Amino acid sequence: MNRLWVRLSLMIGGVLFLVFFLQFLSIMTSPDIGQPPGIGEQPGAGQPLDDGGPMAADPAEIARRLVNFMALSVVVGLGAGIVIARIVSAPISDLTKAAHRIGRGDLEVRVNARGSQEMVELAGTFNKMAADLQHAETLRNNLMADVSHELRTPLTVLEGNLRAVLDHVYTLDEAEIANLYGQTRHLIRLVSDLRELALAEAHQLPLERQPTDLAALVSETLQAIEPLAAEKGVRLMHDMPQLSAVADPIRIRQVLFNLLSNALRHTPAGGEISISGAVAAGQVHLTVADTGEGLAPDQLAAVFDRFYRVDKSRSRDTGGTGLGLAIVKAIVEAHEGRIEAFSDGKGRGSRFVITLPAA
Ligand code: ADP
Repeated sequence: MNRLWVRLSLMIGGVLFLVFFLQFLSIMTSPDIGQPPGIGEQPGAGQPLDDGGPMAADPAEIARRLVNFMALSVVVGLGAGIVIARIVSAPISDLTKAAHRIGRGDLEVRVNARGSQEMVELAGTFNKMAADLQHAETLRNNLMADVSHELRTPLTVLEGNLRAVLDHVYTLDEAEIANLYGQTRHLIRLVSDLRELALAEAHQLPLERQPTDLAALVSETLQAIEPLAAEKGVRLMHDMPQLSAVADPIRIRQVLFNLLSNALRHTPAGGEISISGAVAAGQVHLTVADTGEGLAPDQLAAVFDRFYRVDKSRSRDTGGTGLGLAIVKAIVEAHEGRIEAFSDGKGRGSRFVITLPAA
C-alpha cells in the first residue's frame, strides 16, 4: 500500500470516482430527471415524444449535462492533479533543496523520511550519504590537524638545530649531523607511512590477491626478525598448520612484520613471541602473541588509531610514527578481513588476531 505506484493509482482512481460520483449525484437530484412529465404537460414542438419512462430527458438537457460534466471534470481533475503533484513531489523538493545545501558545503543537512516506501528509502539513502560525507570531512580535518602536529615537531627540531649551527652555538660535528639525519629520516618515514595509510584507507593500495600459503609467509617473516630477537634475548615460537588465504603475500608479510616488530619492541629480554594459525567457518585466524608490556582495556581499540602511542613521552625520533597499527588495520580491511587486539592487562602480554577469508 505504501508503494508510489499504488498511491498514485489510488489517488487517480479516487479523483475519477469523485468526478463520476458528483455527476451521478447531480443527475439523481435533478428535478428534471427521474420524473415523468407532469400531468397536463405536453411535449413541445421539437421535443421528442416519450413514453413517460423514469429517465426521460431531452437531448438539449443531455448536452448541457455533458458540458457541465466536462467542466466539472476539468476543474476537479486540475485541482486534484495539483494536490497529487504537490503531495508526490514534496519529498523530492526537500531532497533537491538538501542536495543544493550539501553542494554548498553544509553537511549537517538531513531530510525527513516521509511519503511512499520509495521516497522513505531514497531519503534514508540520502541521509546516510550525507552522514558518510560528514564523517569523511571530520576524518579529513582530524588528519590535517594530526599530520601538521606530527610534522611540526621534527621540523621545529631541525630548524632549531640548524639555526644553532648557523649561530655557532652548536658545532657541526658528526654527532650533530647524525642527529639532523635522524630527524630527516623520521620525516621521510612519516610522509611515506601517511601516503601508505591514505592509499590503504581509500582502498587504492594495489593488492595482488591470490591463494597464499600463510605457513610459508610466517616462516619467512620469522626468519627476517630472528636476528633482532636473538640480539634482544626474546624467544620466537610458531605453531602454524598448513593454511591458505586469499591475500596479497607482500602486504600480509608487511602486516606480520609490523606486528612482530611491535611485539619485539614491547617485550623485554627473556620474553616470548609466538605466531599461531587456525581455520574456522571459512576464515583463517592468525595470532601474534607476546609476553611483554600488555595493554590496558581502554588501549585495546585505541592502538589502531593514527598517531596513537601508549607512552606519550616516547620521543618521536626514537619511537615509531604511531601509524604502524593504523596501516596494518587498513591493509587487513582492504583484504575484507579484520584485526583485533587482546590483553589480560598491563604487564601481561598482548595478542593481535587477524582474520582473513580462507582460500
Ligand atoms: P608505533 O609506530 O608508535 O609503534 P603503532 O601504531 O605500531 O605505533 O602502535 C601504537 C601503539 O600501540 C604503540 O605506541 C604501542 O605503545 C602500542 N603497541 C603496539 N603493539 C604493542 C604490543 N605488542 N604490546 C604493547 N603495546 C603495543
